[in-house]
Amino acid sequence: MAEFEIIKKLTSILSISDKDVLIGFGDDCACVNVNGKKLLFTADIQVENRHFVRNKINPIDLGWKLVSVNVSDIVACGGIPRWGLISIAVPKSIEISFLEEVYNGINEAKNFYKLEIIGGNTSSADEIIFDLFLTGETEKFISRSNAEEGDLIFISGYTGLSRAGLEILLQDIKNLEDFEKELLKYHTRPVARIDIQERIQKYANSCIDISDGLVADLGHISQMSNKKIVLENIPISPLLEKFAKKYSKDPLEYTLYGGEDYQLAFTVSKENAKYFKDCLKIGHIEEGKGIYLQDVPLKIKGFEHL
Ligand code: MG
Ligand code: MG
Repeated sequence: MAEFEIIKKLTSILSISDKDVLIGFGDDCACVNVNGKKLLFTADIQVENRHFVRNKINPIDLGWKLVSVNVSDIVACGGIPRWGLISIAVPKSIEISFLEEVYNGINEAKNFYKLEIIGGNTSSADEIIFDLFLTGETEKFISRSNAEEGDLIFISGYTGLSRAGLEILLQDIKNLEDFEKELLKYHTRPVARIDIQERIQKYANSCIDISDGLVADLGHISQMSNKKIVLENIPISPLLEKFAKKYSKDPLEYTLYGGEDYQLAFTVSKENAKYFKDCLKIGHIEEGKGIYLQDVPLKIKGFEHL
């Protein structure tokens, strides 16, 4: 069964009747009304040998990434992060210095994003698992389901870089060139786009963070908004061009289908496009279904977790 179908099957068991739940399953965050305030909830997990390999990742980076991937979902809903709970499960043999370094990375990230970690839980497991439950707040919830006909589609930065970085990491390449070191950082130290959060909240009609891949995540906007996505031009990062040339790869494949970029993909009306001159315009929204590159339909595929 595909990940999407499993989630659908399981979440249908838990029907939501509380009127204060404004958004339940299916968006980047859940959203609840607390005395007129909109609180955001999200959780994201990092599992050893699934999201990272212990001897290949710097534990400080792991802590940084755990926080960043969660902040990314909060920002994608137009919000700012506030408070988090961290749950860890680790093998009994783990070195305490490894965990301290992870927490140093968490600390660095919490200071950068201006949030607090205020509790959590610990247990043991055969592999390392870190889970962060993060709350945030927003005045306006920006969903995946509100793209409108005529909207322009933007991304906050190039995609595909993290996947290239991951491949460099896993291949143990000696004597990395400067552009390769830079690509590595896109994978190990992603920065959630909190710098454009206010503009997203004010001007975006719909938004998602790019974790599964550009096409896969635009697919969510398309499906949930019930609209057709037409991509006009796909900007390819010069760093990715260099990578593709050196290793004989197709840079378009990485740009469209690489995951874990944590850039934002969002739609805005033509009038509001002027607020996003620092972002990359890639297409527009039409009535209909599916994702097209000019008039060629694109297959929606991306990273599957299950
Ligand atoms: Mg997301
Ligand atoms: Mg996420």
